[in-house]
Amino acid sequence: MRQLLFGGTVTETPSPAGGRILIVGGGAIGLSIAHHLLDAGHEEVAVLEQAEIGSGTSSAGTGGIRQQFTSEINVRLVRDSIPEFLTLGERTGMPFEFRQHGYLFLADSEERLASLEKSAALQRTLGVECEIIAPDRIADVAPDVELDGVLGGSYSPQDGSAITQEAVAAWEAALRRSRVQIHEGVRVLDFRRSPSGRVVGVSTSAGSFDADTVIIAAGVWSRGLGRMLGLDIPVSPRSRQAFEILSEDVDLGTPLTVDLGTGAYVHPKSSRRVLIGGNDREVPESQRPALDPERIPSLLSAIARRFPKYAGIAPSRGWAGLREMTPDDHAIVGPTGVAGVWVATGFSGHGFMQAPAIGRILSELLLEGRSDTDLGPLRPERFAEQVSLHEGIRF
Ligand SMILES: Cc1cc2nc3c(=O)[nH]c(=O)nc-3n(C[C@H](O)[C@H](O)[C@H](O)COP(=O)(O)OP(=O)(O)OC[C@H]3O[C@@H](n4cnc5c(N)ncnc54)[C@H](O)[C@@H]3O)c2cc1C
Repeated sequence: MRQLLFGGTVTETPSPAGGRILIVGGGAIGLSIAHHLLDAGHEEVAVLEQAEIGSGTSSAGTGGIRQQFTSEINVRLVRDSIPEFLTLGERTGMPFEFRQHGYLFLADSEERLASLEKSAALQRTLGVECEIIAPDRIADVAPDVELDGVLGGSYSPQDGSAITQEAVAAWEAALRRSRVQIHEGVRVLDFRRSPSGRVVGVSTSAGSFDADTVIIAAGVWSRGLGRMLGLDIPVSPRSRQAFEILSEDVDLGTPLTVDLGTGAYVHPKSSRRVLIGGNDREVPESQRPALDPERIPSLLSAIARRFPKYAGIAPSRGWAGLREMTPDDHAIVGPTGVAGVWVATGFSGHGFMQAPAIGRILSELLLEGRSDTDLGPLRPERFAEQVSLHEGIRF
């Protein structure tokens, strides 16, 4: 079967207005890009999703939104996403709440504290409210924390969290009310090229689709799609797990708190539910997400030590997803060496919180050819150029 998605002829050069845009991947990133194109009045867009919308890594995300990074581009992308998170529910008419409960990072060594001080200074120059707080103030902000060995922390009250799956549903609902096409169960199998080598569409499990621009927003599957074009998109799937514990005594006013010494975090989610996780950053590449029971005892003992209120509570459930890691823990975004193909992938565990800004910036670049935000640091060719970015706040 051959589907002519948009009809008409395929031109060699995209029109200034963006032309026909095909997005491969219906996760947070693909949907946000489509949503921003729609917001800008561009509806000649189709999202191709091999399974169901939001069923990839976005189905497993725990919804954290923080501006506390050591890398300027990471700070900017989340800072610029926050206004959209604050208004997404209202603008789409869908249930969505961004709770600004803050994030608190705890340092138990001079080295970690110095690094937090440096990143807090960077964040403040970028307009983010972030302060280094001493243990006595930590006791006020997060009374449940055991302060033994804690030298200080970095705290941003504007950070917070939302429910990733609600954002996905909100973006999807807005798109379904428009002429933007969403195709579920349609797997991209190959790219179609003109004699000049420009990509002019894709072949899928449901026939061919024409496009002026194809955006690979396929998360952990992006590397395989890149190979079809001779592109190396170094996204490495790494399993990440999270657990829920139930307690009658959750203080929803306390920040998501990360013990940088162990990586363990506590994330109050509702009046009875707390998410925990974070001691599984260094795991080997894997093709399927899987819970790793061997890491549970060390996680629970790290939680018990730093957050004694939750000691001895067994998780009521747990789940895992594949984080889309890159060699330098930063996303890969921009046009590729193949004409007609862009990528927006490899968000290294920060794709939800960065999705709104990425959607806006890509929409501006595709429709107007310019954006006030410079995505240059995330350019795909940086790996070949051996330019490496660094992110110091990782867990
Ligand atoms: C346990 C866990 C906790 C996390 N916590 C956070 C957090 O607190 N904050 C945060 O910002 N991020 C978090 N993340 C990361 C976040 O979930 C991801 O960065 C984000 O979901 C990536 O979105 P995406 O759209 O790039 O990828 P995906 O959601 O994986 O979407 C890609 C889509 O592409 C589709 N696809 C792939 N290949 C093809 C093809 N050939 N044809 C058609 N479709 C295709 C897939 O089916 C998939 O639906 C967490 C992740 C995990 C696993």
